[in-house]
Amino acid sequence: MVRPKKHLGQHFLRDQNIARKIVDSLDLPEGDTRPVLEIGPGTGVLTSRLMERYPGRLFLVEIDAESVEHLHQAYPSLGHHLIQGDFLKLDLQALFPKPFVIIGNFPYNISSQIFFQVLDHRDRVDQVVCMLQKEVADRLCAKHGSKVYGILSVLLQAFYDLESLFKVSPGAFHPPPKVMSSVIRLRRNARKELPCDELLFRTVVKQAFQKRRKTLRNALKHLNLPASVDALDLMDKRPEQLSVEDFIFLTQQIGKG
Ligand code: SAH
Repeated sequence: MVRPKKHLGQHFLRDQNIARKIVDSLDLPEGDTRPVLEIGPGTGVLTSRLMERYPGRLFLVEIDAESVEHLHQAYPSLGHHLIQGDFLKLDLQALFPKPFVIIGNFPYNISSQIFFQVLDHRDRVDQVVCMLQKEVADRLCAKHGSKVYGILSVLLQAFYDLESLFKVSPGAFHPPPKVMSSVIRLRRNARKELPCDELLFRTVVKQAFQKRRKTLRNALKHLNLPASVDALDLMDKRPEQLSVEDFIFLTQQIGKG
């Protein structure tokens, strides 16, 4: 058996019902052929079900050599579809030049970084079903007006529709994590490009939330905004009060200046 390693965020799911529910949450149409990538298969509790459902088009990336060895022995047919490596360093463009979907019980310590990587490949990552620390999941799914709405909520919701599906208690894992978990689904929305400069959009969102208790006028002061932007009513608000559309509008106005 694989000994759980804390530094790799290894908490193995042992509740088979929950494993089934997670796999069922991937919503692919009949006859679909897109590759399915599982991040962090570990001992393979999701993998066995995914292999049945998506034969020949399931890929896995796992950083832990011991888990990889275990998986190769348990499922010899995986072959080169099982990649030993760090998801954050994968050349996703080379591996998946066409659209694909992602599933996994994510290593909680790197979940934000996983989503930044997803955003970088958003035109090919059509859907993500994943388990996360509940607190992080709540933040990603939060709408403006919520205290937990933040940078990744805005950046992800610009390109994905997010749904919170169900909660999972620590007792479902070995060893149990200290936190509640939550399964969420992201589906790519219809927006191809932002109608504003995307780099500037990211900067504005990040800077605004760095000082989330200040008004935008204060938080963005050092960007030397033109007077026309400074005068906007929206600049009296705090970042958590702005919808994704508001951030896009603000970026457009800044870009004009
Ligand atoms: N899917 C399994 C394991 C979840 S624990 C289950 O549900 O039981 C998270 C898994 O992610 C672990 O197996 C861990 O080794 C792996 N992991 C951690 N960091 C990773 C990274 N950077 N890239 C790929 N896998 C990683």
